[in-house]
Amino acid sequence: MKIIRRKSRQVMVGDVAVGGDAPITVQSMTNTITADAKSTINQIKEQESVGCDITRCSCPDEDSARALKDIVKAVKIPVIADIHFDYKLALIAADNGAACLRINPGNIGGIDRVKEVIKAAQANNCPIRIGVNGGSLEKKLLDKYGEPCADALVESAVEQAKMLEDNGFREYKISVKSSNTMMTIEAYQKLAQLLDCPLHLGVTEAGGLRAGTIKSAIGLGSLLMHGIGDTLRVSLTADVKEEILAGYEILKALDLRHRGIRVISCPTCARRGYDVQKTVETLEQKLSHINAPISIAVMGCVVNGPGEASHADFGVCGGKNGENMLYIYGKSYSKVKSEDIISTLVDLVEAKALNLDKIA
Ligand code: SF4
Repeated sequence: MKIIRRKSRQVMVGDVAVGGDAPITVQSMTNTITADAKSTINQIKEQESVGCDITRCSCPDEDSARALKDIVKAVKIPVIADIHFDYKLALIAADNGAACLRINPGNIGGIDRVKEVIKAAQANNCPIRIGVNGGSLEKKLLDKYGEPCADALVESAVEQAKMLEDNGFREYKISVKSSNTMMTIEAYQKLAQLLDCPLHLGVTEAGGLRAGTIKSAIGLGSLLMHGIGDTLRVSLTADVKEEILAGYEILKALDLRHRGIRVISCPTCARRGYDVQKTVETLEQKLSHINAPISIAVMGCVVNGPGEASHADFGVCGGKNGENMLYIYGKSYSKVKSEDIISTLVDLVEAKALNLDKIA
């Protein structure tokens, strides 16, 4: 089954295209104090190391907005400034190198202030993300709908998009996030019918690593399956790298984008020939820096091992007495001892990633 993506127009966030036929990008956000440029730069470098395409920094004060100047110079990926309430911070962030402004025009103030933000965005080639959030809907919409709901999120987004378009600004993308997965899905589905701008997907405040990943996989996965979504963030209360790794896993599961290793592993049972769980955990950790799409099968025994290993770039199938079978490009290659499995697979993957692969 091939997913047909919704046709959206494209905007540029720095040198990264979002929308149109561009790959679906994976975003994250820093949680350091943005004004502390050194810590923020270090964290963005960590995000870059696991494939983050675009990051975002909160700018709650002037020092933070000004710190962007040093931050953007030191990192490779575009940095979005996250602004709330004070439109002047958006102007400072745009002038200091923000590649995009995430604002909620509804909480920036009157139209005159929104116009000032548009002017600064235009002067700096900066798109805007309209970030509608179930937790900060306009009062008039809460009065109208009684509580946050998909229709209220969509109405807010459409109104805010109109505000930008009425002022001649079309370089925007939109998110309509809620912490309620079903509400999020409904809101994006409705919005996708109404506008052709790129959509930034996310289930907001999704929770910790396990619950948040599952909620996001269901919410974002349902939308992506129907072709909706041009960029995404998995919001997790966890180490910042986890959001990015989870984002790629969602895209990989849907065959929408492949980055890094794809592990096929069995749940293990009494038939396993070696410690499959520890092997997978260690491989995921040791190979998280790999960008090239490479598949490895880590299988416990001959029941399903040879079948899975024959479809992966590299594979190991558990055998008896600590003697396991190594597969390379689908063919059984040699025996490998249990204690050598991890180093053997790491070497093979790293060599392939560097195009040093001599095994044909
Ligand atoms: S592949 Fe073998 S070890 Fe793994 S779950 Fe299946 S039967 Fe058990």
